[in-house]
Amino acid sequence: MAEAAIKLGGKKKSIFMDKVKEILPQGNLSLCLTCGLCSSGCPATGLESMDPRKFLRMVALGMDDEILASDWPWCCTMCQRCVRVCPMQIDIPQLIFNIRKARPREDRPKGIRDSCDAAMKTETLSAMGTSVEDFIFVVEDVLEEYQESQPEFADMQAPIDKKGAEFFLNQNSREPVTEPDEMVPLWKILHLAGADWTYGSKAWTGENYCLFIADTDNWEKITRAQAAMTTELGCKTYLNTE
Ligand code: SF4
Ligand code: SF4
Repeated sequence: MAEAAIKLGGKKKSIFMDKVKEILPQGNLSLCLTCGLCSSGCPATGLESMDPRKFLRMVALGMDDEILASDWPWCCTMCQRCVRVCPMQIDIPQLIFNIRKARPREDRPKGIRDSCDAAMKTETLSAMGTSVEDFIFVVEDVLEEYQESQPEFADMQAPIDKKGAEFFLNQNSREPVTEPDEMVPLWKILHLAGADWTYGSKAWTGENYCLFIADTDNWEKITRAQAAMTTELGCKTYLNTE
C-alpha cells in the first residue's frame, strides 16, 4: 500500500517538537534512525494514512496544526510495542499522550469521553454505568446457572468483597452488561488453579477510559479508587485483566 506523502507548507510551530526533545535520549532527534521498526509492529499503522515513524517525522518538521487535526493519535492503543522495538528507546506513546491532552476535552472522541464520564458517576467505576447492586446480581445469577448446568463446576465460586483474598480481580465493564457468559472462562481457570480471589463490589472495573481520553485527574482518581478497594479488602495482588 502506498504511503500518503507528508505535505509541507504553512506556518510551522514547535510545541510538540519540544516534547520530542524531552523524550529523546539527549534531546537529539537525529537519534531516530528512521528504521521503521516502530511502524512494522504498530497495530495503528496504516490507519488515517499514518504510522509512528511518519508521525514522529511530522512532529520533527513542526507540523503541529496537521498533527492536532489528525485523528491518528486516537487510534494508538498505548500498547508500547514501538518503544520495545525502537533501538533508540523513543517513547512515542508518551508523545501521543501529550498530543491528546493538547486537544480541548470537548473535541476529544465522544465514545471514549462518555465512557470516562460514565465511570466517574458510579462507585463501581463501570464505563457502562453498572451499579453495585446490578453487578452483584449478574455475577451471582451467572454463577448459579453454571453451578447447576455444569456439575464439574458445582463448587466454583465468584466471590465479591471477600476479605483477605490473595487476588483482587478486576473485570471489563462490558461483559456483565452485554456478554455475562464471557466472565465465566476466567472463573473456571481460577477455580481449577485453586486461586484465592475476589471481585470488589466497588471499583471492580478493569479498563480506564480516562487514561485513553488523556484526562489525567480522573485517570488518577480511578487508579486510586482501585488501589483503595484492594487495600480495604486486604488483597495482596491486584490482577488486571485489561
Ligand atoms: S523504531 Fe525508533 S529509531 Fe526506528 S524509526 Fe521508529 S522511532 Fe525512529
Ligand atoms: S503505542 Fe501506539 S504508536 Fe506505539 S505501537 Fe502501540 S499503537 Fe503503535
